[in-house]
Amino acid sequence: MRITVLGSGTSHGVPAIGCDCAVCRSTDPKDKRTRPSILIDVPAANAPSSYSGDVRSILVDTSTDLRAQALAHDLRRVDAILFTHTHADHVFGLDEVRRFNQMQKSPIPCYAERETADTLRRMFSYIFEPPPQRGGGLPQIALFHIAGRFVLGGVEVVPIRLWHGRLPILGFRVGSFAYLTDCNRIPDESWPLLDGVTTLILDALRHRPHSTHFSVGEAIDAAARIGATRTYFTHICHDLPHLQTCAQLPSGVELAYDGLVLEVE
Ligand SMILES: [Zn+2]
Ligand SMILES: [Zn+2]
Ligand SMILES: [Zn+2]
Repeated sequence: MRITVLGSGTSHGVPAIGCDCAVCRSTDPKDKRTRPSILIDVPAANAPSSYSGDVRSILVDTSTDLRAQALAHDLRRVDAILFTHTHADHVFGLDEVRRFNQMQKSPIPCYAERETADTLRRMFSYIFEPPPQRGGGLPQIALFHIAGRFVLGGVEVVPIRLWHGRLPILGFRVGSFAYLTDCNRIPDESWPLLDGVTTLILDALRHRPHSTHFSVGEAIDAAARIGATRTYFTHICHDLPHLQTCAQLPSGVELAYDGLVLEVE
């Protein structure tokens, strides 16, 4: 299984519009952070899936920057999409799905909790309650509700409850890999689901505390408790320069960056 970090930035992206701070002006490519999303590529040998056709590329969230991310990483195929929650930075690229519909000649199955799916239907009423006149075409989406573990592309997807301030959202575990973005609390029932995770991507916004995201210190504590062999922080704001921050993190913990590729058992 291969994980590609498509976007490692917070909702504003880095650089932020109109900001002259050192990170926003940095020439290090690892300080350029698009909105948060990852791609999970499942080996074809795991097919067939529970859905029609073989699932090989699973996108997590459709970030505001999906088009730019797809071009940057030559993303040509999306077989399924998992949604963590409906904040704008995680869903506003949904319209770009049209291009994958065209290339693949099929709707794309999307998976979200019922509340998240209901919010998507409201936010994107032009997709789910289309007007009679369809100028540029509409994304073709088959929306399924997540109500527990399910199998996609021959791998089991384990939804992990996370708290993002007062909003319940989902992280996802696939094999020994877990993606836990947008959270500042992991509830008791979720810790056992993270047993045996060896590769972890975890929210860490900045050093200062925040009401809906782990700070770096809080994320270090959570990462230590999960005990993955390697942990990468994501959803990073412009407070954290890549090189200097990585030098200060415990061994086995690094900042993720756009384009980071991880091979996972
Ligand atoms: Zn800045
Ligand atoms: Zn969020
Ligand atoms: Zn976010």
